[in-house]
Amino acid sequence: MNEASPSNESLRVFADYDRDFVEEADVVVVGSGPSGSVVTQQLAEAGHRVILVEEGPPFTPSEFVQDSNLTMARTLREAGLRSPIGTFMPILQAICLGGGSLVNSAMCLRPPPFVFDDWCSRFELSQTTRDDLEPHFDAVAKFLGIAPTPDDVQGKRNLLFRDGCRELGYSSEPCERNVQGCRGSGECFSGCRSRAKQSMDITYIPEAMRCGARVLTSLQVNRVLGAGRRVWGVEGRVVEPFTGRPGAHFRIHARVVVLAAGCMATPVLLMRSGGLANESGQVGQNLQMHPGSTVAGRYPDFVDPLFGGTQSYQSLQFLREGFKLETMWSPPAAQAVRTPGLGEDLVDRLSNFNRTVVWDGIVGANRSLGRVSARFDSMDPVIRWRLHPEDAGILVRAIHELCRIHFAAGADRVFPGIAGLPEHFDSVEEADVLRDASVAPGDLTVASSHLFCTTRMHGDAKQGVVDEWGKCYGLDNLYIADTGIFPACPSVNPMFTALALAHRQAHALKDRV
Ligand SMILES: Cc1cc2nc3c(=O)[nH]c(=O)nc-3n(C[C@H](O)[C@H](O)[C@H](O)COP(=O)(O)OP(=O)(O)OC[C@H]3O[C@@H](n4cnc5c(N)ncnc54)[C@H](O)[C@@H]3O)c2cc1C
Ligand code: SF4
Repeated sequence: MNEASPSNESLRVFADYDRDFVEEADVVVVGSGPSGSVVTQQLAEAGHRVILVEEGPPFTPSEFVQDSNLTMARTLREAGLRSPIGTFMPILQAICLGGGSLVNSAMCLRPPPFVFDDWCSRFELSQTTRDDLEPHFDAVAKFLGIAPTPDDVQGKRNLLFRDGCRELGYSSEPCERNVQGCRGSGECFSGCRSRAKQSMDITYIPEAMRCGARVLTSLQVNRVLGAGRRVWGVEGRVVEPFTGRPGAHFRIHARVVVLAAGCMATPVLLMRSGGLANESGQVGQNLQMHPGSTVAGRYPDFVDPLFGGTQSYQSLQFLREGFKLETMWSPPAAQAVRTPGLGEDLVDRLSNFNRTVVWDGIVGANRSLGRVSARFDSMDPVIRWRLHPEDAGILVRAIHELCRIHFAAGADRVFPGIAGLPEHFDSVEEADVLRDASVAPGDLTVASSHLFCTTRMHGDAKQGVVDEWGKCYGLDNLYIADTGIFPACPSVNPMFTALALAHRQAHALKDRV
């Protein structure tokens, strides 16, 4: 390999690579999602030489277009069409600088203490209570300016949810989000054109660069280099944005390697590195998700579905029963997916676009397990996962509650989106058919962007891949920092927990590099 390296500029993009190269750092972090970005910033601030490697390209607001199909095809893996074998559904995962934070709704929730108590008792953890993580949640919240969404950017779409919950006596609250000056354009999923969303590419990553970190984008890591108990770096190929076409080879030598490539890619990387960190046999196992379904409600009057924070109101009323309810974006494409019918009938229904809003429920599906394995010719994973009938039952319960909230807020028609049941309900009494309905998992329309546990933490080295600090069992200097280390579903949107865990991990790592 040519030993010439690129120049020392702190951010490199695809056009900057014209040959094979080798780099050296104290720490190499693979993956620039929330977890990898925090680790990079914290270690760079502590004075370590850090290189952050990201497969996707950086995006600027001018590249975000309102055609969500186009933006999502560019920013999501497999163009947003990745699906498991077992239960067919889209799994949304980002490929861009900032990872999921660039295209997510910025909802930031601390899971309630019972989630962490459950993790500690079932997975033999002793230092991962909510109290243990609180200082790290606080530090991240301060840095990102996480705060409740104010009413003036909620829009009717979100406030109707609040009103419906109030009517039924359910708790509800404005979502806390990592935004500054949100205009309520409701297009977080296709990229925030006003740069209000405090995604990693405009927060932790530039701060890391100010502290001396180098960020190399359009590089796909294919292998972790190591032998015995130690790793000494990573290697891979330059990849062209959007096509993934491979180019020059690279290698980065480092004293510490942190894998933050996400819940799907990190186990594949370990498998393709000779089965690293897998003495427990748990790498790629235990895959869990939060499957979610949407329910559309049609209202008698104009509800301005395009205005309002993308997902800005939520109810935690049913968290202990296994599901969370929240508002959802409602652009024409999302509504079209939820609207039944064909031809003129479909067109007629879509003419109600301005009177329709969409909300969703997500389930902490702890019974629905899967696994991730490597393909021989690609870094894309083979995903096996099946929605368990009991978790499907909880999702039906969530859909029923969403129907009730819509009617309580004044909807005149609700679309539950379950095969084999009426395509719409015109009253809450009609929706009550969901109480006793026999619904098979395959009758539900589901999707997920919350994925966990494929390199889970566990107090027992025989049952987990990493310890509570993200250090791989059996290795001295390999760490994992992404949602794959969660031992189970967090029950609420995961980004804030990933950030807090990564922040804690980086603090511990500062003195070990
Ligand atoms: C559309 C959408 C909406 C969401 N909304 C919310 C929300 O509102 N609130 C919330 O809490 N959560 C939300 N989530 C989930 C949240 O964004 C993720 O849980 C979070 O981003 C996970 O962080 P991570 O650091 O584990 O990994 P990721 O964010 O997935 O980052 C991993 C990074 O590693 C890179 N990578 C992978 N393989 C390689 C490789 N071989 N070489 C180099 N780089 C590699 C990827 O390109 C990616 O950028 C949403 C997710 C999506 C997709
Ligand atoms: S709702 Fe609009 S302005 Fe607010 S953070 Fe999302 S994309 Fe940006």
